[in-house]
Parts: sequence; C-alpha cells; structure tokens
Amino acid sequence: MNKMEDLRREVASRLRNALHGREIDMMENRIEVPHMLGVTPIGKIHDPQNEDMTLLDTKHQFWQDYDGDTKTKRAIMEEIETAIRSLKKDGMFRMTYPYGEEAEVTYVEVDELESQEEQTTKCAKCGENISYSLELENLGDTAYAARFHLDCPSCDFSGTFESPPFTRV
Ligand SMILES: [Zn+2]
Repeated sequence: MNKMEDLRREVASRLRNALHGREIDMMENRIEVPHMLGVTPIGKIHDPQNEDMTLLDTKHQFWQDYDGDTKTKRAIMEEIETAIRSLKKDGMFRMTYPYGEEAEVTYVEVDELESQEEQTTKCAKCGENISYSLELENLGDTAYAARFHLDCPSCDFSGTFESPPFTRV
C-alpha cells in the first residue's frame, strides 16, 4: 500500500530530475506542479492532455494502491502538493535567491531520497521467512537500478542481487 512517505519519494525523485541544480528565472517562467514534476518542460505552457500516464493521472500505477483519496485529479493534486510542501518543510527541497529576492531568480536544490523498503520472502535454501531490503538507485534522468540484499538467519544463505538498469517514468 502506497502512503504519503512513498509519494514523497516519488515526488522528490521527479523534482530532482526536473529542477535540481537549476537557476530559474521566475519572471520569465511560470512554475507549476506539472513543471516541477517534469511533465512539462520549464518555459513551456502546460497542456493537461500531456498528463496521461504521468503521476498527474489518476490511472497512474502509483495511485492504484494508494492510501487516500485518488478519485479525481483535484484529489491527487492535493496529495502531491502536500508532499511538495512537506519536502520543503523538511529542507529536502530548497529554493534560494542567489541574486537577492528582487532579482526573482531562484536556485533549486533537491536531496535524493533513497528508496528503502523492508520486504519478506522465503529463503531459497531452507524456506525460512527472511526480510530483505530493496534499494533503488537513481542513475540519472529516469534510469534506475534495483538492488536486493538477502541474509538468512537460519542458514548461511546471503547475497546481493542487482537488476540491470531500467527506466521509470
Ligand atoms: Zn535459509
């Protein structure tokens, strides 16, 4: 079940891809949520027709198993806005004004949130229930690699398995 913490992670990785390390002229560019999530490039006007299959779409896979109201676009937008505000509040999403606020140029930084979830599976060797952690590593843009660490407490089975790079939109 996806919760707000999962949404924060989804949003943070998109904010990072779209905005991290960029200087944005706020006079020239209107930055709305679709720009922040990388659905619409900065400098372009957002067209709701481009929302299909993105996080702004109620049909996106993430929302199929979300612990909250996901019936309407308005409802998921509110969840996303809450996630953005909370990342700001925690200092993981920072906007600073290197030339002074009146210059209206902002420098954006977004920390990387490592995705780490505890899961359980059966040991391939002895059949004992063991927990493993899944780590998603961002390789830049939408490329990721997943890594599993397995450690069985009842036998000597342990290992790290890495997936080939894959893309995640
Ligand atoms: Zn075992």
